Amino acid sequence: MNQEPLFDSEGLVAGSCREELPAPRDLDSVRRIAIECRKCRLSETRTNVVFGEGNPRAGLFVIGEAPGADEDAQARPFVGRSGQLLDKILLAVGFERKDVYIGNIIKCRPPGNRNPLSDEIGCCMPWLTEQLEIVRPKMLLLLGRVAANTILGNNLSMGAMRGRVIEWNRFDCVVTYHPAALLRNPNWKRPCWEDVQMLRAHYDRVCPS
Ligand code: URA
Repeated sequence: MNQEPLFDSEGLVAGSCREELPAPRDLDSVRRIAIECRKCRLSETRTNVVFGEGNPRAGLFVIGEAPGADEDAQARPFVGRSGQLLDKILLAVGFERKDVYIGNIIKCRPPGNRNPLSDEIGCCMPWLTEQLEIVRPKMLLLLGRVAANTILGNNLSMGAMRGRVIEWNRFDCVVTYHPAALLRNPNWKRPCWEDVQMLRAHYDRVCPS
């Protein structure tokens, strides 16, 4: 199928692992290559590459920051405490895991759960670019400032990004607090709830069932 590229050369999500990929591309072929990735130092300390999972035709793609210890052990995104809270948040507005695709900016766990470094993000973004090109969701839910700043290419605070739908590169993006932040600060649960209700209302307009 001949499709226009989703990202232009100026886009933040630049670069691609396309030259490494057999055609036609699909998530399984990208995963097979990604799990062998040794482009950055995180490959030396990871147990598993956490590629991402979910509905390959999802209208909503949920993007977190990086795997934690549970995700590194199980090779699945959002399976620890943050993941359980994410499941509840999504379910509260009618999404089950089978309805969405879930991935992270970084596919390997940073040691001690430190923030990903910019060169690690640079090495890892091509996998997410491929995932977005293959799934082609209408909407992105960006969890936390690292995911939102990376995708949107800005340095804005959460307060400046959440609470509205942001159009970026053909995707309608909603930014909200990362579930790990909600576990630390329950006062953010209310604004998160407002964000996901807004997301659901917008999703029903752009992805009518
Ligand atoms: N936090 C993230 O950002 N991603 C995960 O997969 C788990 C925790």
